[in-house]
Amino acid sequence: MDAHGELPCPACGYARRGLEHAASCPECGAAGFHGRLVVTGQPESHRESRRAGCVSKAAFMLNGILLLFLSRQPWSDAIAMGIGALFLIAAAIWLLGRVRRKRVVAAGGSLERIAWDFTADGVRVREFASERLVPYSEIEKCWSAPGFMFTGRTRVQLEASGFSHGKGGFPTIMVGGPSHAQRDAVARMKRCIAEGKGEA
Ligand SMILES: [Zn+2]
Repeated sequence: MDAHGELPCPACGYARRGLEHAASCPECGAAGFHGRLVVTGQPESHRESRRAGCVSKAAFMLNGILLLFLSRQPWSDAIAMGIGALFLIAAAIWLLGRVRRKRVVAAGGSLERIAWDFTADGVRVREFASERLVPYSEIEKCWSAPGFMFTGRTRVQLEASGFSHGKGGFPTIMVGGPSHAQRDAVARMKRCIAEGKGEA
């Protein structure tokens, strides 16, 4: 079997290195990998960054409401202070996320909790404990963007019918490793998809 990435258990983060691909996780019992190619990578945004994004978005909206409608109210200063506090909270959440990730890496753990398992039925997309199968016939395009947003990783996204940009969205993975290995892994992923669709 062909692989790229640190290959931890997507469900619990256990370092599966040295383990047979098909073996279940000894830590949490989650399934192993069964396809001819498996690629692990980081999520596009980490959970704290997403939460911080939500909080700052709310603060921006409140700020807009304040400026447009409430600026003449006697209590507008109090609202402005509340908005400032929300921005601080967002920054704190984001910072805590950075600290947590540094700790995970320092302890020898992996942040790669997305796994794409190229099985005979399609791409089995595993994101933490959740899992969904994207049949090759439903994949319309496999987008890849190397060096995405200065991360040094390649962003790969499957545009598929039956999925939407909305809730859940198209599956996305941030592929890491040396840049030549990233290029190579993406080429192998695209080849698997083309062969799965019967185009190669
Ligand atoms: Zn596990």
